[in-house]
Amino acid sequence: MTPEQALEQAALAGIHCFQIPTPFAVGRVNCYLLEDEPLTLIDTGPNSGKALDELQSQLGARGHSIDDLELVIVTHQHIDHLGLVEIVVEHSGAEVAALGIAAERLANFGEDSEREDEFAVELMLRNGIPQEVAFALQSVSRSFRGWGSRAVVTRSLEDGQAMPFRDRVLQALHRPGHSPSDTVFWDEERKILIAADHLIAHISSNPLIARPLDGSSERPQALATYIESMKKTREMPAEIVLSGHGEPITDHVALIDDRLAKHDRRKEKIYKLIAEQPRSGYEIAQAIWGNVAVTQAFLTLSEVIGHADLLVNEGRVREVDDGEVVRYEA
Ligand SMILES: [Zn+2]
Repeated sequence: MTPEQALEQAALAGIHCFQIPTPFAVGRVNCYLLEDEPLTLIDTGPNSGKALDELQSQLGARGHSIDDLELVIVTHQHIDHLGLVEIVVEHSGAEVAALGIAAERLANFGEDSEREDEFAVELMLRNGIPQEVAFALQSVSRSFRGWGSRAVVTRSLEDGQAMPFRDRVLQALHRPGHSPSDTVFWDEERKILIAADHLIAHISSNPLIARPLDGSSERPQALATYIESMKKTREMPAEIVLSGHGEPITDHVALIDDRLAKHDRRKEKIYKLIAEQPRSGYEIAQAIWGNVAVTQAFLTLSEVIGHADLLVNEGRVREVDDGEVVRYEA
């Protein structure tokens, strides 16, 4: 099956992909209209006039308007996916479904983003990223915040919960890793998985380090969690995986195997760097990515720490804290 055929098949099942523009490097975000009862939109796109216009016109092309929407499903906490939720709900009165354990996070968007940024700055400083780089990234993040919005969850979902529609049942499954709240929606009868950013065909989903949903201050092992989640998805007999960005995936097992192998190679590369001499996360990122480790400091640091976590878990590497900066040592 080609990606085009997969989209056609999804459309025959009443699932229509809307590509909504974002101001981010990732490009357009895929939102999905579920023509069923209730009439459902899965993710909304970011909070911008342009995204709203596109959403309206793509709904219009299917004979609907925003006012007709009855349910909005939020797949995860990232602003390119949920920025329009508040506006859509104001217009339509739609219910909002999302993972219950993410509800508080989604409701306190503004305040919470501030705390997320503080967490990121502290993490960057602890891992050797210079103060000016960390603070510059913090202000970039603040400047993006307007593309997000709060979302008040009216239907809390639990991991594994079945959501009945007129024509189908979707099972909500928690698949944390890319973000702590990643949720995928499984149509077992049609073998269609709506996976958002849990799996993306053309780019590997970044296991971004984020604050735990329960508010604890412990740093989560985002990559280790993500690998566990991918292994669970690998076992599913999905024929079509509809993604949050780019084309549908028609062989998720091959894609996941490829990603797992890639993470394994990167882990060994990082191990070699650490075995040469003790290094901070920032030093490792610079050795691998050069200047990108500065411009994309948080992203690359998340990658490095994720792989270093795996090495720590395997007992091959340990963290040495000199009181200011954490270094990894073989
Ligand atoms: Zn995302």
